[in-house]
Amino acid sequence: MKKNTLYLPRPTAPFLAVLCCLALSLPAMGDSAATELLKARTAEFRKDVVQVADNVYTFTGHSVQPVSMIVGTDGLVIVDTGIDRASAQGVLAEMRNITALPVKAIILTHGHGDHTGGLPVFAAEGSPAIWARDNFGEENDAFASAGLTVNRQRGARQGGFLLPPEKRINNGVARAYYPKRGGEVFSSDESIKPTDRLTDKRKSIEYAGLKLDLVSINGETKDALYVWYSDQRVLFSGDNFYKSWPNLYPIRGAAYRDVQAWADSVDEMLQENPDRLVPGHTRPVLEKGLVIEMLTNYRDAIRFVFNKTIEGMNKGMTPDELVDYVKLPQEYADKDCLREYYGNVEWAVRSIFAGTLGWFDGNPTTLFSLPPAEEAAKMADLAGGADALATQARKALANGEAQWCAQLCDHLIALSPESGEAKLLKAEALENLAENLVTATGRNYYLTVAQELRAAMKGAKSPSAVVERAQTQEEREEANKQAAMAFFQLLMGDLNYEAARDYTAEYIQHDPLIGDGFDASAKALQTYPHWKNREPSKVDFKLVVADGDLVTFQTHTETTTSDGSRVRRAVVHTFRFNDQGKIAEHWTVVGTADPEKSVSKHPLF
Ligand SMILES: [Zn+2]
Repeated sequence: MKKNTLYLPRPTAPFLAVLCCLALSLPAMGDSAATELLKARTAEFRKDVVQVADNVYTFTGHSVQPVSMIVGTDGLVIVDTGIDRASAQGVLAEMRNITALPVKAIILTHGHGDHTGGLPVFAAEGSPAIWARDNFGEENDAFASAGLTVNRQRGARQGGFLLPPEKRINNGVARAYYPKRGGEVFSSDESIKPTDRLTDKRKSIEYAGLKLDLVSINGETKDALYVWYSDQRVLFSGDNFYKSWPNLYPIRGAAYRDVQAWADSVDEMLQENPDRLVPGHTRPVLEKGLVIEMLTNYRDAIRFVFNKTIEGMNKGMTPDELVDYVKLPQEYADKDCLREYYGNVEWAVRSIFAGTLGWFDGNPTTLFSLPPAEEAAKMADLAGGADALATQARKALANGEAQWCAQLCDHLIALSPESGEAKLLKAEALENLAENLVTATGRNYYLTVAQELRAAMKGAKSPSAVVERAQTQEEREEANKQAAMAFFQLLMGDLNYEAARDYTAEYIQHDPLIGDGFDASAKALQTYPHWKNREPSKVDFKLVVADGDLVTFQTHTETTTSDGSRVRRAVVHTFRFNDQGKIAEHWTVVGTADPEKSVSKHPLF
């Protein structure tokens, strides 16, 4: 079996019969087993109202995270709020079909934005107490204080936010969703803060006649808690449990997630002896036997991987050796709730190594490794030249060795960073790896980087090439339109400044905030307060028109105001192209996208 890929047997007839009942999840011809498995998973994320107990409801499928409502005597308690305001409005409408009572308390299981983005919507349904841990939002604070921003780009790759819907099956523990949260993908919504902080290990709170225990835990984040509603024996686990191998290491990057503490927290949940379990993602579990079985397997499988990794480390193994040494035993691997839909066992093994011993793998050869370009030059020498190396890379892909192909492509790209062929070949290898990986986060990451490599290629070559091919006025206008949109997506959407530059000549800038030329634009976008915290996103193009050498389009753009809030602006851009098909002049007109801010109640468009 190849590393990093999951090859599964073809599905059995009964399995296919189940699949065929799910119109959305129909496998396409030629799908790999991993792809079919991930497609079948989408049923887990359907929109639904699940009555978990007499007075407990969980609303699934609106965003990426189920929102729960507990109905008390004269009010409601909400557990987690979903990813954004739009999806929270959908949940609220469903809630109001059941009860008109006001919201008395909101409990946030941790500070990740996918659980907190809908907070303003539920907070407006009363004057609720908002409970969270005392260190709420610590993960994002740590990124910010280090000055890290690359985690946003990696997060968008892992989430698949830049992929078109047809390439994004789901997120493994959630449906594919394109959040509109003012660009804040992984942080908490700052507009409303918790009013009450859990400082103790355990605390009982009471609202609307409902007694709930909040219990501090560590694991996915250090600011996590679970909620125990003992009267109905319902446990709300937050993200330390969902139906998938846990994301003990997120490939977007994070400080070490304490794997032992994570397993211990599952053990604590088990000690409550719950009848019903509402996970942080995926559907509630309503059978007591299943609740106990899932929590037990979860705890034991995590502990197995931790202990086996430590055992291998004590034998002197490096991370590359450990990922072959530590295999999840079949008794766990067969369980659907431990399948690697979201997290991956190999990444957990590497994380345990790095989290406990740090980056040095113990082999002194790696203390001062050769820089990539030097190693690549020596590899090319060994192969008989760069062309021979490229031939080997193509051969590897043809032989189904996509991982080896990608590794050889890295050498080729290090040798000549401008090499378009190596980039396209690597993109193909990554797409191949994605197709055979069930872990949605890794799959999205592969596909997004492949897309970036292809876009970079387009950026380097296509604008002038397309214009050269365009003979008629109409073809030329169409080529300019495509180039203007591609440029703007790279610049404002993908934050890929290098690729965007290739679409421009030395251009005249009419935006009053920015100087002439591409460098001034790129600098402004990375430093001005209202732009600099952007995350990669898909640009929402409205009307696009071309006339002669001019292209004009409308977009809605989100920016940050001086008080830190986000506003949507309607912006008209006009570009003039030169004879070589490069951007030579740029104008903007900015208005409001908020109908409430205009007298006519119409936005600019
Ligand atoms: Zn989550």
